[in-house]
Amino acid sequence: MDTIIKNGLVVTASDTFAADVGIAGGVVVQLGQSLHAEGAHVIDASGRYVLPGGVDPHTHLDSPSQQVVTADDFRSGTVAAACGGTTTIIDMCFQRHGESLAEALADWHRRAAGRAVIDYGFHIVVVDLTDQVEAELARLPGEGIPSFKLFMAYKHGPMVDDLTMLRVLEQARDHGGLVLVHAENGDAAFHAQRRLLAEGKTAPRYHAVSRPPRVEAEATARAIALAELVGAPLFVVHVSCGEALEEVLRGRARGVHVRAETCTHYLYTSEADLDRPDFAGAKYVFTPPPRQPHQQAVLWNALADGALQLVSSDHSVFNFHGQKELGRGDFSKIPNGAPGIEERLIGVYQGVQSGKITLNRFVDLVATAPAKLFGLYPRKGTIAIGGDADIVLWNPAAELTITQAALHHQVDYTLYEGLRVRGLPETVLLRGQVIVEGREFVGRAGGGQFLRRARYPK
Ligand SMILES: [Zn+2]
Repeated sequence: MDTIIKNGLVVTASDTFAADVGIAGGVVVQLGQSLHAEGAHVIDASGRYVLPGGVDPHTHLDSPSQQVVTADDFRSGTVAAACGGTTTIIDMCFQRHGESLAEALADWHRRAAGRAVIDYGFHIVVVDLTDQVEAELARLPGEGIPSFKLFMAYKHGPMVDDLTMLRVLEQARDHGGLVLVHAENGDAAFHAQRRLLAEGKTAPRYHAVSRPPRVEAEATARAIALAELVGAPLFVVHVSCGEALEEVLRGRARGVHVRAETCTHYLYTSEADLDRPDFAGAKYVFTPPPRQPHQQAVLWNALADGALQLVSSDHSVFNFHGQKELGRGDFSKIPNGAPGIEERLIGVYQGVQSGKITLNRFVDLVATAPAKLFGLYPRKGTIAIGGDADIVLWNPAAELTITQAALHHQVDYTLYEGLRVRGLPETVLLRGQVIVEGREFVGRAGGGQFLRRARYPK
């Protein structure tokens, strides 16, 4: 054995037990009491939880969007992820109009290779469905890309029509893929934006007015109906409100195979944040928008009772200065998105602190469920013999006031400035190597590997 983590409390999605963890060649080789190996590096985990590394299945790094590029690239974004206890991400690889999926993926490989410090996979975002692209979709699950993302929003951007959705859903059904959907009615949002701007309503708060819960719920219901018509599984990203959740539950009750996530920011923000002074509300412009405060409890309950499967970050970041500011005088020009890749585990863990979710459910939401849904389990997402030694030593007693200065992302703000939290990741291992120590990154750029993921099971 190269490394032994001693005296910790191992926590998985299903169990909590005192055990030492023996690591060799980057994988877990032994779990048991009083492990010993001559010459092994010993890490003392007394008073710490020993958790599987987080799996964040929804990020946007180095991603062109709305005439700008996200402020975190694969290096800064994955350093921040690692410092937050995440050891795997699945990033959204965007196809451009006229481009093949192979070209899009080659572009994303170039962005990530040599920079990512944790392991990564890609979802393919289908924007322009030609016959050639349809044929590529049939092959991708066998090549380690078993998930296809579609946007029902962003008219004149990546938005696709229902016919495209049906065709992509069929490819997923036939070849072991899973379709992820951004469910907002793009026509309804576009129509409301034009009307509001014509009335001189240009401030950030009108971003939420233009995309009320029904805009999300309608598209959620339609996506589920289309999946039902062709008999395909579906994953709804960033569910933000009870209205959309109701459609997920209704579809599931009819027997549709539909799974869904929410994001950390919906558990903490509300429409009132869009009214922050000096245009600071623009920092809270993401889609779907922040909702009424009562929705936070709806989402926590859904995470606790299994209605929602996981929490992603949807880390899609634009600097306030120079990027978000492009939307002064027109809320529709504020680049959409917010940071959260480092704050995700900490934010969800506060639900354990306050009794909303159990410790095991926390591990499931941030690591195990995403690994299972996206073809990475049991290599990732749990602590088991033969799995990668991606491990977080979590100090449940450590406290922090979240500030921009305490974080590692490259974007110039956090949504959680001033939030007092308890429970932090301290030491992080990626395939047996310590990459974070005392909340500081000690790994190397390019230490992350591309992950070929397994097909979605029928
Ligand atoms: Zn996203």
